[in-house]
Amino acid sequence: MKMLLGGEWVERREVIEVRNPYDNSVIDTVPKGNREDALKAIEAALQGFQEMKKLTAYERYTILSKAAQILESRKEEMAQMVSKEVGKTIKEARGEIARAIQTLTLSAEEAKRLAGEGVRFDGAPTGGGKVGLYMRVPLGVIVAITPFNFPVNLAMHKIAPALAAGNCVILKPASATPVADLLLGEIFLEAGVPPLAFQVVTGPGSEVGDTLVEDERVKMVTFTGSRDVGKTIMKKKGYKRATMELGSNSAVIVCEDAQLEKAFPRVVLAAYALAGQVCISVQRIFVHESIFDTFVERYVEESKALKVGNQLLEETQVGPMIEPKESQRVKDWIDEAVAAGAKLLCGGEIDGALMTPAVVTHCPRNVRLFTAEAFGPVVIINPFSTFEEAIELVNDSVYGLQAGIYTRDLYKAWEAAKEVEAGGIIINDVPTFRVDLMPYGGMKESGIGREGPHYAIEEMTEIKLICFDVN
Ligand code: NAP
Repeated sequence: MKMLLGGEWVERREVIEVRNPYDNSVIDTVPKGNREDALKAIEAALQGFQEMKKLTAYERYTILSKAAQILESRKEEMAQMVSKEVGKTIKEARGEIARAIQTLTLSAEEAKRLAGEGVRFDGAPTGGGKVGLYMRVPLGVIVAITPFNFPVNLAMHKIAPALAAGNCVILKPASATPVADLLLGEIFLEAGVPPLAFQVVTGPGSEVGDTLVEDERVKMVTFTGSRDVGKTIMKKKGYKRATMELGSNSAVIVCEDAQLEKAFPRVVLAAYALAGQVCISVQRIFVHESIFDTFVERYVEESKALKVGNQLLEETQVGPMIEPKESQRVKDWIDEAVAAGAKLLCGGEIDGALMTPAVVTHCPRNVRLFTAEAFGPVVIINPFSTFEEAIELVNDSVYGLQAGIYTRDLYKAWEAAKEVEAGGIIINDVPTFRVDLMPYGGMKESGIGREGPHYAIEEMTEIKLICFDVN
């Protein structure tokens, strides 16, 4: 596919091959954009902003609503592409597209709601005779940099609120999964977005991404990806806004009074969905010692029953990871944990990018499987004896995206809500729960700022005060 630069579909001599992680076959190629392309995109976006400024809120609402309709009409084609390039199962891919339609629709609605409020100037000793208000105005050019795991919905969480608020967007998709994002380019153009207001520039993050991040004409970088790349961007971005949606090693506490019937199979699916490559995958489960053995036995049984394989087959439950080097990395981390005293109860066998769901118990707290983001189909289950210990275990992480707790005890639920260091705490469900309208984002090294169209728009606009002296 070509890339969408300056309102045109353009090719480059050098290309990036996009591969199906299951069998390594080439699905498509995309241009390997470079620094000059990134600079061209910024110039075009600056012009596009003049067009965006002329649109009314109703016009922006109409364009986004139309994009939602077009995405709906192309949803199976989009799901097939996402499944092929990411390796997620076709069912997971359909779920992602359905959510992206929600994200678009929510953003369209927000376009009409975006307003300011009156300011009570005369409440100040020197404010008599003044009346006025503040408005929220767009920032200008926003750069969106996205990861491989949810190419459509996570890009949508940036593109749609940015356009709803009247900004221009340059999207730099992950090089492993750019094709569905280019298809989004077709959809937005057909929906009537001014051609220079939305561009998709493919190419290496280290060149295209870097150039976009460093340019002073860009007013904001909205990034979703790994903590390390996020930190690099924060150092390079200079005087511009940034939101960072980064990784995590999310935990769930299962108390002795948990409704296990409710917890299963959620706790199992949440560890292995998208082969564990979800930023809020369940990686660490802390189970009260009194129910530990029963819990682990059932967990292993359900993990072993999952069908691993070709993601495009309807019956597959766990597809491949993004590439074989990643399944090998996770295997190495499991081996390291086992060498340090952990027990591997099932799974962890690899075949190319596929890995069978792995359950590790009694994992020491100083190995990578515990401390870092595994981002693979592996889960740690460790016992705890006191509730305070469970909270301490959850907080023993540099990350803090979301956490979960299963309990019927109101005191414990509220205590966890107060004490757990995470952007969201999910009571009686897994940390992996997300609907697209909620405020979503991390504390600690899991990120800065919040997404969810209503909240993203706040990050993507600034306040302009208007004051009249009516004396
Ligand atoms: P990644 O390696 O950090 O890449 C993310 C994006 O950053 C890609 O588009 C990449 O481009 C680009 N990039 C790389 N180096 C760059 C640089 N120097 N300057 C600017 N951009 C650069 O992440 P990933 O492996 O695709 O995704 C997995 C990570 O994303 C996990 O850590 C996961 O937890 C996190 N994630 C977080 C959330 C959330 O909402 N909190 C959601 C999903 C995923 P190239 O592909 O060209 O290198």
